[in-house]
Amino acid sequence: MNKQALRLTILGSATSQGVPVIGCDCAACRSNDPRDNRFRNSAVFSKNGEMVVIDTGPDFRQQMLAHGFGHLAAVLYSHEHNDHVAGLDDLRPYCFRQKENIPLYGLPRVIGDIKSRFAYAFSDNPYPGVPTLSLHEIKAGQSLQLGGMAFTTIPVLHGRLPILGFRCEDIAYLTDVKFLEQAALDLLKGLRVLVLSCLQHKEHHSHLNLEEALEVIKKIAPERTILTHLSHRFPPHAQLQLELPEGVEVGYDGLRL
Ligand SMILES: [Zn+2]
Ligand SMILES: [Zn+2]
Ligand SMILES: [Zn+2]
Repeated sequence: MNKQALRLTILGSATSQGVPVIGCDCAACRSNDPRDNRFRNSAVFSKNGEMVVIDTGPDFRQQMLAHGFGHLAAVLYSHEHNDHVAGLDDLRPYCFRQKENIPLYGLPRVIGDIKSRFAYAFSDNPYPGVPTLSLHEIKAGQSLQLGGMAFTTIPVLHGRLPILGFRCEDIAYLTDVKFLEQAALDLLKGLRVLVLSCLQHKEHHSHLNLEEALEVIKKIAPERTILTHLSHRFPPHAQLQLELPEGVEVGYDGLRL
């Protein structure tokens, strides 16, 4: 096999309700631009046929039908909110095909939440056909080797909730960010690509708005930034792009970096 460069693919670029939102007739929800069709937030790092997925939200199955070719080495969980874990059961095709436990990594609190939410997968006498998984607790500032890729976990504050972002080589993926402490900024030096969550224009208690996101980007100073976890309260893709400075782009599903 030819040696492949590291790649990050955006699997979903929407906040928790997706875009369009059911029953909504706002400009973003009515847009004909395919980039305004946004699955819930997720991404996959891939290299040499190995994949490491970040979060398994409610759209995981559809996302992996389009982009899920290869060996799934691991899933890294940013946090336990429903839009980041609800699709966990759809890991089953990988469990069956790879005939192995798929390793899941997250903060101890997140692993505990997954265990209780998907208790059927971890029972002593499981029903045949449940996902076969192994659980691994990690902490912020840790190095991890997964599928031949070297990751560093980044401490992120999602409102008051401590969660994780992930860096691999010169690409970092940070979702559900409200605040980054100095320890996080120190781990984010020299980035080629930063994927950063940004919810809307209006201030929000647990997510960066556009103004705050642009301040964070200035501090980190990556070569290129992609915004993700976008709400339908933003204008349609093309219009939002016009509001952004050079080097900052509106993300969309299927974008490869
Ligand atoms: Zn809408
Ligand atoms: Zn969240
Ligand atoms: Zn979220």
